[in-house]
Amino acid sequence: MDKIVSLCKRRGFVFPSSEIYGGLANSWDYGPLGVELKNNIKQLWWKRFVQERDDMVGIDAALIMNPKVWEASGHVSNFSDPLVECKKCHIRFRADVIDLKKACVSCEAKDGFTEPKQFNLMLRTFLGPAAALNESEPRPGGREEKANVAYFRPETAQAMFVDFKQVLDTTRKRLPFGIAQMGKAFRNEITPGNFIFRTREFEQMEIEYFIAPPKNDKEWQKHFEDWQKEMREWLKEIGVDMSKVHETEISDEERAFYSKRTIDFEFDYPFGKKELYGLAYRTDYDLSQHEKFSGASLKYRDPETGEEFLPHVIEPSLGVDRTVLVVLLSAYTEDGDPDAKKVGAGRVFLKLKPQLAPYKAAIFPLLANKPELVKLAREVYDDLRKKFPVAWDDRGNIGKRYYSQDEIGTPFCITVDFDSLEKKDVTVRDRDTAKQERIPISNLETYLAGTCL
Ligand code: ATP
Repeated sequence: MDKIVSLCKRRGFVFPSSEIYGGLANSWDYGPLGVELKNNIKQLWWKRFVQERDDMVGIDAALIMNPKVWEASGHVSNFSDPLVECKKCHIRFRADVIDLKKACVSCEAKDGFTEPKQFNLMLRTFLGPAAALNESEPRPGGREEKANVAYFRPETAQAMFVDFKQVLDTTRKRLPFGIAQMGKAFRNEITPGNFIFRTREFEQMEIEYFIAPPKNDKEWQKHFEDWQKEMREWLKEIGVDMSKVHETEISDEERAFYSKRTIDFEFDYPFGKKELYGLAYRTDYDLSQHEKFSGASLKYRDPETGEEFLPHVIEPSLGVDRTVLVVLLSAYTEDGDPDAKKVGAGRVFLKLKPQLAPYKAAIFPLLANKPELVKLAREVYDDLRKKFPVAWDDRGNIGKRYYSQDEIGTPFCITVDFDSLEKKDVTVRDRDTAKQERIPISNLETYLAGTCL
């Protein structure tokens, strides 16, 4: 894990946030390479689950919604973790993840902990000028608080229920169909940590897949299992090490009361086996709650039978940042260097799927002090740059440039040498095998498109 964190910082994937001010605990910024990797993951997900499917549509809803949404969804009353405080050092912990009989893990005192209190995980804010009357936080329970309190959404899911009718009316989709959304979510986690695994601000990619009320268990099980398979296929597509993925059935006691079945996709992180994604059958709980609280009808009218009913829903819920983390953990490779003579023994490379790599290729002139080589290499670079994200490097020797690109997962290195001037071809070197082949400059675009798009 330390190696990944340091590579991320050194090469510009993920930086500690607000570092010049001493940082903000567990807050991270995606740097120039990280934003490309994260965007590639999100775009691939959107393409696969929205654009390529006839039964899916997307939305991008407001992040701050009417606070009644969170009353209806149960988040105001139930979205909490039990909080305890060490009586000696006053550090706070989640009561359900530490052993309350043991010494404090922070100060090692055996003074014990306070009684668990439910701590709501939603991040609150106050909207509009009334909130500004009170410069600090408005008085708890005061007039201005009640009137202006709002929440940063703790999940993207609820907007898909709240907008269900509008999506239905504007798209005329027929069941079964799904609504997808990706975007930020916020949770005031008691113990964030493990790099980008658990943060207070993160991104989700969620789907609510609506089905007719099932007549028997088999009907919803089928959709559930289809989505389970889809999630597995997605993980394979993005190159996640499947030997570290576990699909864990959540027991009746641990499951949310409205869910009839939940499976957690877990991953063997360096810090233990923990959740990556969730898949849940949520019945018609959410739509019925929103009907109750809003007074609006959210029923679907079957165009053939004229029957009206509330659809049920299967929810595949994915965290973007945890995806970035497992992609990096799966791609990180150290090996004896196949190019050892040039590079020196051993190398680190990110075996990223070419579709996810921040740069698809890097272009080098063999020697930086030969203007004719630089000129042709620059032409190749300028041409390819219009079609693909590509890098330019003319520093140091070729071996060092290879090493530098390997470390950030660039699948191909393209070198313009003296032969290129005459034959109009270049050396293309493969990241994983270090094998080199000559390719005509005029074929480069097709070559990269075939492997990287
Ligand atoms: P956990 O048990 O780890 O707190 P959860 O069961 O509360 O997760 P869900 O509410 O199911 O998580 O959220 C769906 C997905 O969103 C998770 O599977 C995870 O990928 C992501 N996620 C949830 N909380 C966080 C967080 N604090 N930081 C980063 N990603 C998160």
